[in-house]
Amino acid sequence: TAPLLDIRDLRISFQARDGQWAEALCGIDLSLEPGKVLGIVGESGSGKSIAMMAFLQLLPRGTRVEGSAKFRGEELIGMAPARIRKIRGKAIGCIFQDPLSAFNPVKTLGQQVVEAIRLHDRTISKRDALKEAERLFELVAIPQPARRVRQYPHEFSGGMRQRAMIAMALANKPDLLIADEPTTALDVTVQAQILDLLGELREELGIGMVLITHDLGVVAGIADEIAVMYGGSVVERGATEPVFYETAHPYTAGLIGAVPTLDGTGALRQIEGTPPSIFSRPPGCAFHPRCGRAGAPCPVDTPRLLDRGGTACACHFPLTETAEAVRPARVLD
Ligand code: SF4
Ligand code: MG
Repeated sequence: TAPLLDIRDLRISFQARDGQWAEALCGIDLSLEPGKVLGIVGESGSGKSIAMMAFLQLLPRGTRVEGSAKFRGEELIGMAPARIRKIRGKAIGCIFQDPLSAFNPVKTLGQQVVEAIRLHDRTISKRDALKEAERLFELVAIPQPARRVRQYPHEFSGGMRQRAMIAMALANKPDLLIADEPTTALDVTVQAQILDLLGELREELGIGMVLITHDLGVVAGIADEIAVMYGGSVVERGATEPVFYETAHPYTAGLIGAVPTLDGTGALRQIEGTPPSIFSRPPGCAFHPRCGRAGAPCPVDTPRLLDRGGTACACHFPLTETAEAVRPARVLD
């Protein structure tokens, strides 16, 4: 069977005001099987969001997109806008960080879910669609759904609004849910509830998910596979357990060090420095100015993503299990 999502050598370039092109995505490969959860992790500017925005055709005009992104075997890159609009919001649902800006403030949440349903299915009556909205609210554990569908976005708390966003994304029974920083705006307790909800929905509905986050801890408990991105490239990729327990890439190790423990005692270790802008990306391994292991080849040769047994890793000096394996105590609880 074809993967749900299959991304091959996807490249995205933007043009600066001075006319110079810069690669925001330097050719990445990712794939996702139906019903599985892929976590894409990286700091801002790593390219993690634009990869998804590219194939949903949500990037500004003039962006250069090359390579391939197939959804259930169908090529999305270069697809006619009318066709992609049919897929977006139907077969592929999206959840964003800030549901307040995704909702229309002057329409009730029920109306908005009804519109989302009727956009893709004209045969369903408004009344039936509202019933369906209530059912969806119940599915995402919004209490008193019959009353809540009649309320406006500002009448919902941040966590409840995110649940409504998820309900809307599920309105047309998607096979794939793309969630970009779905819990970043929420406090820790609510964050955990939303992640639990996503986990349950995945079990119940068999939906495939791409969870995009800067926080490795967010995906640790729910993702089957993790791709760590830095400077427009995937630097490490693999099943969740080996990414955590047989970490090969120094950047991933740094992120794990920076993951707060789940008991809330705070960060263990931070990576120093800031991620590069796409217009001033360091040559060779883009991570080299921040890397404690950098050696002679690092500023010169860009390391390729190679299979290392446990994970695939792009580094000239991958961490070995015996030397500096990072073992965060409770991350995978
Ligand atoms: Fe560090 Fe070099 Fe590996 Fe890049 S290639 S992560 S600079 S050791
Ligand atoms: Mg982003």
